[in-house]
Amino acid sequence: MYKIISSFLFLFFISCTNMDSNIQINKVYASIETEPVESSGDTADDPCIWVHPKDPSLSLVIGTDKDENYAGLRVYDLTGKEIFKTENGKMNNVDIRYGFVLGSEKIDIVTAGERTSNTLAIFKVDIENRSLVNIAAREIKLGISVYGSCMYKNVNTNDIYAVVNDKKGNVEQYLLNDNGQGLVDATLVRTLKLPSQLEGCVADDILGHLYIGEEEKGIWKFGANPSDGNQGLLIDEMGSHLTADVEGLTIYYSGDSTGYLIASSQGNNSYAIYKREGDNSYIGQFAIADGKVIDGVSDTDGIDVCNLNLNDQFQNGFFIVQDGVNDIGNQSFKIVPWESIANSFNPSLKMNNTWDHR
Ligand code: CA
Ligand code: CA
Ligand code: CA
Ligand code: CA
Repeated sequence: MYKIISSFLFLFFISCTNMDSNIQINKVYASIETEPVESSGDTADDPCIWVHPKDPSLSLVIGTDKDENYAGLRVYDLTGKEIFKTENGKMNNVDIRYGFVLGSEKIDIVTAGERTSNTLAIFKVDIENRSLVNIAAREIKLGISVYGSCMYKNVNTNDIYAVVNDKKGNVEQYLLNDNGQGLVDATLVRTLKLPSQLEGCVADDILGHLYIGEEEKGIWKFGANPSDGNQGLLIDEMGSHLTADVEGLTIYYSGDSTGYLIASSQGNNSYAIYKREGDNSYIGQFAIADGKVIDGVSDTDGIDVCNLNLNDQFQNGFFIVQDGVNDIGNQSFKIVPWESIANSFNPSLKMNNTWDHR
């Protein structure tokens, strides 16, 4: 009995030491939060940022709500006010790409994994009305029970893909195509397999990488093109930087080939930053702490970042996250100016407020 208790205590001690690893976590503060979502559960999940082509101050945040009753996409302006929503099933993750060629037009295309009907939802941004228009050619049923999703644009061919994954480690990559009638269809072009539950993912459009979070294991890196095969490289795993689950992933572009990969380390309420280039070497960690007006952030699912000068308040863009617990109501998305994050490091992180995805 003594042996059992002592080995239990030993294991308990080991797991505590792992949890309290002595890494520096920089504190930053949110300067805006979106209106809370309508329902009280864990229902907000993932945001993405759309930059207006002519007036960046009219840019939008598109967020997901995965609640049974109010599910859909939520569109917020840069003050956090909800200005549009869709009601089309449980949207888990959302992503966006610019310049999809649809007929004679170039559109900004948004996709989301929809868990009620297990389909790929496809929208375009209506620039005039700052809203979303459903442009899916049909009910695009997926071959897996969708959980996470993201997008990839091959900047050489202009091909745009949606990548979806599930809780069993399966990944499906779909090529988006103009159906010739003003709508967008999707064709399965590659599958990948990892050992366990996936969700967060992001593609580097310029360097051609696809990063996928295996929630209890770490961050995987694949070639983003269907012809790149199915061998992944584990770039970081649970330890001092990542505490399970690894959740949302996003990329800050400071130029064509430099920038940062950022990961939500949900288990210790912080974000890990890696170099975008080379072997993705680890840079450091930050968290969003309680501010004077806006509460801090815990238990983050999805994240996104924008480098561009959007308005006076966000001259170097911003980082946005889902907040698991909101002090004054239901869950919301919190927004931190990029320079607050960049300047919390020494030397400070790069800022480039003109490099444009369009
Ligand atoms: Ca959650
Ligand atoms: Ca998750
Ligand atoms: Ca909070
Ligand atoms: Ca709040």
